[in-house]
Amino acid sequence: MALERTLSIVKPDAVAAGHVGDIIKMFEFNHLRIIAAKLVKLSKQEAEGFYAVHRHRPFFQSLTAFMSSGPALVMVLEGDGAISLLREIMGATDPAKAAPGTIRRLYATSIERNAVHGSDAPETAAAEIAYFFPAIDLI
Ligand code: ATP
Ligand code: MG
Repeated sequence: MALERTLSIVKPDAVAAGHVGDIIKMFEFNHLRIIAAKLVKLSKQEAEGFYAVHRHRPFFQSLTAFMSSGPALVMVLEGDGAISLLREIMGATDPAKAAPGTIRRLYATSIERNAVHGSDAPETAAAEIAYFFPAIDLI
């Protein structure tokens, strides 16, 4: 499988609940290496820009209010097949449907407050990494 980079965000719910260490441990256990990281408190506008693809969805206002409600840890992860691997260990969007042992099953509290983000394809990974990190910040 090809070496890939993907964007992950430990969302404000999981940062507030103190799950940053547990989530990073799962990344590293699954051979996803952190090659850039920063703690950010997104403005509402920055959250709207990040999730612009969902702007017409009924949950958009609530989602972007949540994503700008407190600190979030944004990371670039690298590894073999990193994009699909991260999606696999995150679990389904709705924690009620997420497989046992996945991050969302363990730490999400609702379909919105679901602990973690992961890019869903090579194109979105590249765009999302560039949204947060200039190329010079990537190791
Ligand atoms: P993410 O993009 O955050 O990794 P995802 O790809 O699993 O999650 P998307 O469909 O892209 O899911 O939705 C983006 C985010 O919007 C979800 O992670 C969740 O926080 C929120 N969301 C999705 N569906 C709903 C819903 N029906 N009600 C409330 N919030 C939702
Ligand atoms: Mg998504």
